Amino acid sequence: MRYGMVIDLKRCVGCYGCQLSCKAEHATPPGVFYARVVKRESGTFPNTRLVFLPLLCFHCANPPCVDACPTGASHVRTGGVVDVDHDVCVGCRACMQACPYGARYYNRDPRPYFGDQGPTPYETARGSGGKRGVVMKCNFCLDRVQAGLDPACVANCPAHARTFGDLDDPDSEVARLIRLRGGTQLEAGLGTDPSVYYLPP
Ligand code: SF4
Ligand code: SF4
Repeated sequence: MRYGMVIDLKRCVGCYGCQLSCKAEHATPPGVFYARVVKRESGTFPNTRLVFLPLLCFHCANPPCVDACPTGASHVRTGGVVDVDHDVCVGCRACMQACPYGARYYNRDPRPYFGDQGPTPYETARGSGGKRGVVMKCNFCLDRVQAGLDPACVANCPAHARTFGDLDDPDSEVARLIRLRGGTQLEAGLGTDPSVYYLPP
């Protein structure tokens, strides 16, 4: 089994629902976006259009971040999910240098949302995930997935632009969408083999 996600750029309306629901799910500090949406212009003036590009960790099958990690903190979990063990991470940030997609963040200092409110929910309620001085990232909401739920960004997309499932199962919805709609990986030439596919706008 290999968990993967398909993002339909034709359906995405750029509402940031994925970005916000991810922040709510993981209580990440300001400036940290495991899921984020960037806007790109495609075409040539005057025949241009805005394309919304939702991004997240691609949970690559050949993850350079895992290879770069000197402590084993960056590791591959069930279904190919790439995660960080915060009890082992020493905050060297070699993984951030190695990731070509900018999908990792360093939890450097307290960053409350509103003034001096003390520890953020991320620091108090998320176990070792709230430690400072470590690297943090998307883990495909593996806790939710193992409870039979979709990742938060998938469940909260009002346009149903995101689909999650088993890439290895040819009968899964993700495999079907990739096959029928011509799903592609971003920067496939890097050889990282991302587990996130995009359907054309
Ligand atoms: Fe696009 Fe869905 Fe994210 Fe909204 S929630 S920006 S429609 S992917
Ligand atoms: Fe590994 Fe942590 Fe260093 Fe990243 S910051 S390479 S996860 S020890």
